[in-house]
Amino acid sequence: MRIDKHKCAGCGQCTEYCTLGNISSCRRDKTSGWLYYEIDEDECVDCGVCLRAKICRTTALFMPKYEWPRTVRANFSDPLVEHPETKVPGRGTEEMKTNEVTGRIKRGYVGIACEMGRPAVGARFYDVQTVAMALAKLGVEFEPRNPCTGLMADAKTGRFKTEILNEKVLSTIIEMIVPLERAPEVLKVIRTVAGEVGCVFSVDLISRFNKDGSIPVTPILKSLDWTVSPNGKLNTGMGRPLFREA
Ligand code: SF4
Ligand code: SF4
Repeated sequence: MRIDKHKCAGCGQCTEYCTLGNISSCRRDKTSGWLYYEIDEDECVDCGVCLRAKICRTTALFMPKYEWPRTVRANFSDPLVEHPETKVPGRGTEEMKTNEVTGRIKRGYVGIACEMGRPAVGARFYDVQTVAMALAKLGVEFEPRNPCTGLMADAKTGRFKTEILNEKVLSTIIEMIVPLERAPEVLKVIRTVAGEVGCVFSVDLISRFNKDGSIPVTPILKSLDWTVSPNGKLNTGMGRPLFREA
């Protein structure tokens, strides 16, 4: 995203809408004395929130026509932009963002997701790669339909395409499914590698209930001294199971 300094009236209204607090540099043109705002384009994730807020009355805010690899930023940060490969907007697979209704995560397995970055912080792909490479050493298989996996040069090692490593996004999700008995070793690696990255991330564990109504990952998390925070989504009209349990 950019600001056309010749159109900017220096009102500062858009600064309140930036998801990363990134529109903050107020400048004065040396010749005319005109006050205008700037966007640090290297830090901007092209989420489009400032533009969609329609707050700029002088139409100074504009999204340039960016080329690859810069386009990765909007693909992951702007919910209205579809990934060209998956035709799904956003950060992970469709099920990650609604309900797991496809039967992909079977009993005895757990879906694990590392949600890298957050509003106000974001994430660069070199940090995403650090986490993915640590997990790949365990031999986990990254979800092939996830757009983050699609950016890996080698999904076996978790290595990403070199040209995107410095690209910054609001958030992206590393996804995998592992047998329940492998969850402790995966979680231990996640906890260790968390100290090696410069961005925040949260960990999601997705599983089917046991037949007695208990949650299979709860005892695993408790044994590792992780905080357990069960969460569920009831999406009316969106949560219809697309499969029938055998
Ligand atoms: S809202 Fe528009 S005019 Fe006001 S500071 Fe932002 S870009 Fe400039
Ligand atoms: S596109 Fe997003 S990150 Fe960039 S300046 Fe606008 S609100 Fe901030």
